Amino acid sequence: MIPALMPTYNRADLAFERGEGAWLWTADGRRFLDFGAGIATASLGHGHPHLVQAIAEQAAKVMHTSNLYRIPQAEKLAARLVETSFADSVFFCNSGAEANEGMIKAVRKYHAENGHPERFVTICFEGAFHGRTLATLAATGNEKYLAGFGPPVQGFKHIPFGNMNALRDAIDGTTAAVMIEPIQGEGGVRPASLDFLRQLRAACDEFGVLLALDEVQTGMGRSGKLWAHQWAGIEPDVMSSAKGIGGGFPLGAILAKEKVAKVLKPGTHGSTYGGNPLACAAGNAVLDVILAPGFLGQVDRVARHLWNGLQALAGRHPKAVEGVQGAGLLVGLKLRPEISNGDLQNAAAAEGLLTVAAGMNVLRLAPPLIITEAEADEALRLLDRACLRCTPGAEKAAAAQ
Ligand SMILES: *Cc1c(COP(=O)(O)O)cnc(C)c1O
Repeated sequence: MIPALMPTYNRADLAFERGEGAWLWTADGRRFLDFGAGIATASLGHGHPHLVQAIAEQAAKVMHTSNLYRIPQAEKLAARLVETSFADSVFFCNSGAEANEGMIKAVRKYHAENGHPERFVTICFEGAFHGRTLATLAATGNEKYLAGFGPPVQGFKHIPFGNMNALRDAIDGTTAAVMIEPIQGEGGVRPASLDFLRQLRAACDEFGVLLALDEVQTGMGRSGKLWAHQWAGIEPDVMSSAKGIGGGFPLGAILAKEKVAKVLKPGTHGSTYGGNPLACAAGNAVLDVILAPGFLGQVDRVARHLWNGLQALAGRHPKAVEGVQGAGLLVGLKLRPEISNGDLQNAAAAEGLLTVAAGMNVLRLAPPLIITEAEADEALRLLDRACLRCTPGAEKAAAAQ
């Protein structure tokens, strides 16, 4: 018989009762170090007092009023995002897919409003992940995810990740935008080179195409800067955010330059929950912490510490780990074909470490941004043991040394 909860996920047989910082406990008292953070979402970890208080206080006052009225919490959060980014204006919604769906609508509308409705095609990249709605699935372009859901939404073209020649070939009179994750998350924690991002910006300028960044996973401090594209010193025309922006409370956003934002006039786009007082109270509390002096510097420091440790771990386990990739606190262990990322993920969980699998046989680490060097060391110790579990014979060799 089908479970009451629709079986759209292959869930691990673990349920957590409470959390504190980077740690989670099951009801029977087992403790886990959470280096998945609910898929790069619990950016402040679990039970962060400032976030908890902001949500509790706002919930007691008013949770939801709708966008028929002004929402001071949303106005404040938007102003702070504008002040700290390339953007001139922000639209709030509830998830990454919803943010991307709106971003895709915005780039199409931009060209239609400028007299070019024929420019509706968004160029995307192989290995991308943009969400599970019909349009974002088409943007994702993964045949496995598209199968059975009818004709994909029109207006998407896919080219190899990081290939500038393919991009120049793909741009034509129908191109509205290029949409890219600065680091492909689900696709295997694969970073675009900073040079590629710069060349992309230049090509978009040359051809009057919009640059649309999907920073749903890479944004909000995860890379060690507030937005991952800042490492390349470029600015997009429009960008999506979600995951970490609410610290675990559902919140998404489209950040846009004025020229893009202004085409979404009243009545062209909307969201009933989008940017409600409760979600924006959470968003403001997350931003309070992330923008506090020294916070991102510490994320960068702990990330480099973790990176060095992972390099050393890769050196100790050449039979399991091929390399380390990613940026900041979004890092992947690229595994050798003999070791499956699912097996290593299970082995890590058995040792008390939570991680997330990603594409291309990568094990993804996306811990809360508040982890300490000591917690990074603990994760490395547990990963070391997990690697031993997954490489038969390695245990004996290690013992003999
Ligand atoms: C998770 C993710 C999405 C989809 O976000 P949802 O909140 O699950 O809809 C879109 N783009 C990227 C890059 C993501 O990592």
